[in-house]
Amino acid sequence: MRNRVFLKAMAAFVVVIAVATLTLDFSIRRTWESSLHNDIEKLLVQNAEGFALRVQNDHEHSLQQMAEEESKITETRTTIIARDGVVLADSEADPKTMENHAGRPEVAAALKGTKGAATRLSHTVGVEFLYVAVPSGGKVVRLAYPLATFQQHLDAIRGTLLRGTAWALLFALVLAIAVAQNVSTRLRRIVKFAEQVAAGDLSARIAARSGDEIGQVARALDKTARRLEENFASVRESRLQLEALLNSMTDGVIAVSPEMKILWANQAITRMVHQTARIGSPVTELIRHPDFLSTLRAALASRQRESAIAASLVGRRSFSITAEPLPDGGVVTVLHDISEIERVEKTRRDFIANVSHELRTPLTSIRGYAETLLDSDDIGHGDVREFLQVIRRNAERMGRLTEDLLVLARVESGEEKLDIRPHPAHQLVAEAASSMQESAKTAEVEISVGTIPEAEVLADSYAMHQVFANLISNALRYAEGGKKVLIGAEEHPGSVEFYVQDFGPGIASEHLPRIFERFYRVDKARSRESGGTGLGLAIVKHIVLNHGGTVRVESSVGHGSTFFFSLPKA
Ligand code: ADP
Repeated sequence: MRNRVFLKAMAAFVVVIAVATLTLDFSIRRTWESSLHNDIEKLLVQNAEGFALRVQNDHEHSLQQMAEEESKITETRTTIIARDGVVLADSEADPKTMENHAGRPEVAAALKGTKGAATRLSHTVGVEFLYVAVPSGGKVVRLAYPLATFQQHLDAIRGTLLRGTAWALLFALVLAIAVAQNVSTRLRRIVKFAEQVAAGDLSARIAARSGDEIGQVARALDKTARRLEENFASVRESRLQLEALLNSMTDGVIAVSPEMKILWANQAITRMVHQTARIGSPVTELIRHPDFLSTLRAALASRQRESAIAASLVGRRSFSITAEPLPDGGVVTVLHDISEIERVEKTRRDFIANVSHELRTPLTSIRGYAETLLDSDDIGHGDVREFLQVIRRNAERMGRLTEDLLVLARVESGEEKLDIRPHPAHQLVAEAASSMQESAKTAEVEISVGTIPEAEVLADSYAMHQVFANLISNALRYAEGGKKVLIGAEEHPGSVEFYVQDFGPGIASEHLPRIFERFYRVDKARSRESGGTGLGLAIVKHIVLNHGGTVRVESSVGHGSTFFFSLPKA
């Protein structure tokens, strides 16, 4: 990396410097050459004109003498040519051996009366010359400057120029290396910083001092890293607070991914299962209870809150499980220990059952003696008989109450073993209708059976008998104006819903949500008068729940009531 940036910058510098040097050398040399050429030509013309004057006016010296003198002074080859082109004198060669020069371009120009110039290889001497010829009276004088000398001058100048350029190139190169090295070092610091940040070290800084673009980039990156570090710190702080909060809870909290891997668990979980939760390991390593796992799976699948009660989840302890979907697809589960609540509930149920049980014998005894007394003739017909009847009635009521309390305690505890098997729905309805026929006749109410699906349901027939008996006897008791009770069933996916409908006065809507609670009665006096205990619907609800079904009621004042309960299909 370092070498690449450095070498690229270097290569660019060298190319730029070399191109600049070559361009400089080329253009300067050309200008210089042409200017030198012009100067020499001008000087030759001046010398030639001076010499032409001398040739015209000097009558003392021979032409050859003058030519040789001039040649020495001006360091040129000097030639004097007659009007017809015949060479009269020449400083370098014997004029007699020289051919006619009238055809030479510079001579031809001078013969026409103007100055002429030409560059050419001399036939006589074999060297390249710059020729300048001017008219001189009837003759022409010509000065020839050997260009080899000019070239030597030029080469010397060029050498100096090239040496200067080489020094400049060297200097530029050193400067370029320094600049490239500096840029490369600063870029390396930025790269190192980026690597540190990528490795999670947000405290890394470049700390550039320069104000150029690289410095600006470095400062912007430092600012970004500082912001990230601050945000990260505040996120970590919130996370620690949340962890402290969750760890202080007595409820177990565990978050799992969509693949059922542990994302996080609080310390309560560790205390519960006597095992530390390993992040990323399957949740089944920690808790294997089927109810717990099925609640998690249900929440993952439905993306909705799911809850369940799991008995003996850890050891002999029971827990309520609430699984809430997480925004990123996982689930967070709260495990609340309900063993203590269950224990208290059980104590309460046992107490009620025991009390009811204990009351049975004295109540039977009271009722028995009251009846015996009523049967005897000794008591006559006065107040005593009436009192005895009140005693018997109340003893009977208390008997019913204790019976219902015992049943309720049994069904609420779920301890009662249900004999669940498939029963055709119509059979359950037919049995219920026939067993209640007698009571219906007494109440002068007709029991009719609606349409019943073919399906079979999973139920304990004895418990179902109790459910139907409670609902139908309520319908007979409270719907005396209706004169008709309709029982039937409807098929649903996975379940069959039975109903008992009456056409009596109905129930006001404010009572409906609480109607299945124990001892809840819409009209207490009326219930008591008709022999009600306030426990019938509570018993119905618990029996149906124990079957895995549900109960509900639809009613409106003046339009009768319909009680529904569903049972799973076989
Ligand atoms: P109870 O022994 O008092 O009948 P239940 O639990 O069976 O106790 O019923 C609770 C209350 O619900 C009753 O007191 C009565 O007010 C009301 N109720 C039950 N069934 C009907 C019905 N079919 N029509 C009107 N009210 C009803």
